[in-house]
Amino acid sequence: MTPMMVQYLQTKNEYSDCILFYRLGDFYEMFFDDAIVASRELEITLTGKDCGLSERAPMCGVPFHSATSYIQKLIQRGYKVAICEQVEDPKSAKGIVKREVIRVVTPGTVIDEELLDDKNNNYLAVVFSDTKKYGFAVSDISTGEIFVTEISSSDSVINEIARYEPREIILNHNAGKALNTPIELRFSITPDEQEDEFFDDTALKGKILAQFNKTDLGELNLADKPCAVVAVGVMLRYLEYAQKQTIGYINTVSVYDVEQYMDLDAATRRNLEITETMRDKQKRGTLLWVLDKTCTSMGARLLKQWVEKPLLNVLEINKRLTSVEELTKNIMLRDELRGVLNKTYDISRIISRLSLNSLNPRDLIALKMTLSILPELQNILSQAKSEMLSSMSLGFDMLEDVYSLLERSIKDEPPVHLRDGGVIKTGFNEEIDKLRLAMKDGKSWLAQVEAEEKEKTGLQKLKVGYNKVFGYYIEVGKSANFTVPDYYVRKQTLANAERYITPKLKELENTILGASERVIALESYVFEQIRKKLAEDTERLKRVAQIIAIADTLSSLAEVAYKNNYVMPQIDDKGEITVKDGRHPVVEKMAKELFVPNDTDLNTDTDRLLIITGPNMAGKSTYMRQVALITLMAQIGSFVPASSARIGIVDKIFTRIGASDDIASGQSTFMLEMNEVSHILRNATAKSLIILDEIGRGTSTFDGLSIAWAVAEYVHNKKKIGAKTLFATHYHELCTLEGELDGAKNYSIAVKKRGDDITFLRKIIRGGTDDSYGIEVAALAGVPKEVIASAKRVLQKVESGDMDNASRHEKEEVISDQIDFFDNTAKEIADELANMDVTTFTPIEAMNKLYELSKKAKNV
Ligand code: ADP
Ligand code: MG
Repeated sequence: MTPMMVQYLQTKNEYSDCILFYRLGDFYEMFFDDAIVASRELEITLTGKDCGLSERAPMCGVPFHSATSYIQKLIQRGYKVAICEQVEDPKSAKGIVKREVIRVVTPGTVIDEELLDDKNNNYLAVVFSDTKKYGFAVSDISTGEIFVTEISSSDSVINEIARYEPREIILNHNAGKALNTPIELRFSITPDEQEDEFFDDTALKGKILAQFNKTDLGELNLADKPCAVVAVGVMLRYLEYAQKQTIGYINTVSVYDVEQYMDLDAATRRNLEITETMRDKQKRGTLLWVLDKTCTSMGARLLKQWVEKPLLNVLEINKRLTSVEELTKNIMLRDELRGVLNKTYDISRIISRLSLNSLNPRDLIALKMTLSILPELQNILSQAKSEMLSSMSLGFDMLEDVYSLLERSIKDEPPVHLRDGGVIKTGFNEEIDKLRLAMKDGKSWLAQVEAEEKEKTGLQKLKVGYNKVFGYYIEVGKSANFTVPDYYVRKQTLANAERYITPKLKELENTILGASERVIALESYVFEQIRKKLAEDTERLKRVAQIIAIADTLSSLAEVAYKNNYVMPQIDDKGEITVKDGRHPVVEKMAKELFVPNDTDLNTDTDRLLIITGPNMAGKSTYMRQVALITLMAQIGSFVPASSARIGIVDKIFTRIGASDDIASGQSTFMLEMNEVSHILRNATAKSLIILDEIGRGTSTFDGLSIAWAVAEYVHNKKKIGAKTLFATHYHELCTLEGELDGAKNYSIAVKKRGDDITFLRKIIRGGTDDSYGIEVAALAGVPKEVIASAKRVLQKVESGDMDNASRHEKEEVISDQIDFFDNTAKEIADELANMDVTTFTPIEAMNKLYELSKKAKNV
C-alpha cells in the first residue's frame, strides 16, 4: 500500500464510527466504505484512487472551502464526521505530510454558525443508568450550557428528552434496554448505545471537580447522585473528544431536580403544540410562536427554555411576572430596552467559538458592537424598579477594557477569513504597519521601474506586469526593430510582445511578495494573541450574554402581553384555576372568526371534573387546551389571554386525545390511546391538570363508554388521584356523573338552532347537552340536501325506536320522491343509514360516509 494509504487507514481505524474527511491539498477525500456512503448521501461522484492494492480504492471528495454544507448534510442524517487536517506545511514536510483529526463533528456537538439554528439550542444528551436510577445530562457546546439531573423512572427520562429534544443521545446498555424503543417511537432519533467501558467512572469525579473548579461534589449538588456524576463526566469527556481540546469555558453546571419544573410528557407537549405544531412540526401556530417577540437569538433560546420548563415556585414565578408587568406598563422603558437589544449580536455563540478557536474576524466586530451598547443597557436597567431587571444593573461590568482592545485592534469591516489579510487596524502593531508600507511602496517602486526603463529604452509601450508563473516582468510590445538592454532576461514570447525580467525587478518582487505573506502570518499571530486575551474574559462575557438573554426574554413577554391584551395572572398554591374571559392564545391569532372568550372555574373540591359535551366543531377541544395553555403560560411567568386569572400552581399537565382524532401521528390505534391513559392514571396527582379529549372513541360504543366512565371516576376520586380534569366526550351518558360525584360539573358549548340551521356560539355554559347535531354539522359541511333529508328521516325512525321498520319506511318515502326505479340502490343507502350510529362519528367520518352515500345516490 502507498504510505499515504497506510496513514489513512491508521487514522480511520481510530475513528471507525465516523466518516473520515481526509485533507489532500484543497480537498477533503473519503475512501472505501466512507466514499460509498458519502457519495450516495451527498450525491457526489464516486471515483477511484490507486492505493497500491490490486484494485483501486473507491474515493470521493469535497472542496475544503465548501465542506461545511456537506458536513451539515451528513450530520443531519445522523453521521459523525472526523476532520483530518494536514498539520504541517507540505512544502517543508519530509516524506508524507503529517495529518491529525482536529475535530469530530456530531449532531450534538456542532459549533459552526452555518450548522446551527439561531433560535434553538443544539443539545447533546447522555443517559447513564445503574439499573436503579438514571443520570441525565444535556449540554449545548455552542452556548456553553450543561444541565444535569438524576431521575428514578424511565418515563421521566422520556419527559426530559421531550423537554430538550436533543439532536444526539448517548446511553449505556442499562439505559438503552429501557429507553431505546420509546425514544425511537416518540422522537425521530436513534440513540447511540455505547459499551460500558465508555462509561468507565474512574477519574470522572476528579474531572468534574477540575472542570467546575470545586473541591467537593456537594458544592455542585451532586454528592448523592452517582448516576448524574457519570452522565456529566462522560459528557465532558465526549465533548473533549469531539473538540480535541479542553472546554474550559464551560465552567458552570446547572444541577436540577425534575420536581423543580412542571412535568409535561411528550404527548402533552405535542398535543398542546407548545414549540412545534402537531401536523408539520412548524413553529408557526404554536405557543412559542405567539410568545416569541425577542430581539436577539440569546433571548429567543432562553424564552424557549422558559417555555420548556414552567416553574412551580410562586416566588420565582412572581419575580418574572413583576418584571414583565413593569415592562408592559412602562412603554418607554420597554421600547428603549428593545431598541438597545436590537443592536446586539449572538455573543453567547461567539464566546464558544472564541474558546474553541474557531473564531473569525467578523465575530470580533459583532462582539465589539454588542459591547458598545452596554452603557446604554446598564442605564436602562438601572431605571427599572422590579427586582429581576434592576438587580442586573448592580455591579454591571461594561467590559470597557475588552471593548477598547477590540476598538484599537480590529478593522471595522474585516474579511471573513484571516487568510485574506487586512484584519488588524493600522497603529496596533508596528511590524504589521511597516510591512504594509513596504507593500504599498512596492507599488510605487514598480511604477518607478516602469518609468525608468521607458526612458532608458525609449520604448513607450513598455510596462511592468505580474503573473503567477513568472512573477513581475517587463513587457515590451513587438515593433519593427527594437532592442532591449543586456540585463533583460527573456522569459516569455507572446504574439505581439516579449516579457523580460531584470535582477532589480526580482529583488523588488521578493520584498513585495515576502511582505504580503509575512503580513498575513503576523496578522494571524496578533489575532491569536487577541483571542487568547479575550478567552481569559469568557466569564465576564458570559455574564453579559446572560443579562441580554434575560432582559430580552422579559421584554418579549411584555411586548406580547401589551400587543395581545393579556393580563397578569395571580399565582398561588390554593389549587384553584379561575379565569374570566379566557382566550386560546394561538387560535385567537389564527382563526378567521372573532374569538369568543370563556370563563373557567376549577378547584380541588366542588369543580374538579368538568364534563364537556357539545356537537363536533363546537369548540370543546379549543376550550380545554386554552385552559391548559393559560395555566402553562402563567407558570412560565407570562401574562395570559384573559380579563383576569387566578392560577393555583399545577405540578403536571396531561393532555390526551381520543385515538381517532389523532390522525396526524399515523398511530391512531386504540392501544396507543390506552397506553397514554394508563400513563396518566399512574402519574397524575391531586395537583395535576388533566385534559381528556374524547377518550374511548377508538373502540366500540359500549367499550368506549365504559372506559370513559371508569377513567372519569378514577381521576375524580381523591383517594386515587383527585386531579382537576376537563373531559370532553360525546358519551352524553357521562352527564349523569354530576349529582353522583361531588366534584363533577356538566358544561356544554352553546349552539343556536334555527330551523334546520345551527350556529356555533362558542360559549361554554353550565349543563350538559344530549344533542350531537351530527346531521346539521354534515349540512354545514356541504353534504347534498337530499342526503341530509334522508338522514333526518332515518334518524327520526331510529329515535322513535322503530329501527326494524326504518329501512322499509325509508324506501317507501324514497319511492314517493319519485326515484322508485332505483329501488335497489335506494334500499342500500337506506339500510346503511339505518345501521349507522351517527353519534359516534367524527366530522371527517361523517363527511366521508355522507360523501360516499351521496355519490351512490347521484349514480342511480
Ligand atoms: P370540537 O373539539 O368541539 O370539535 P374545536 O375545538 O376543534 O371543536 O373547534 C372547532 C373550530 O372552532 C376551531 O378550529 C376554531 O377555529 C373554532 N373555535 C373554537 N373555539 C372558538 C372560540 N371560542 N371562538 C372562536 N372560534 C372558536
Ligand atoms: Mg375536538
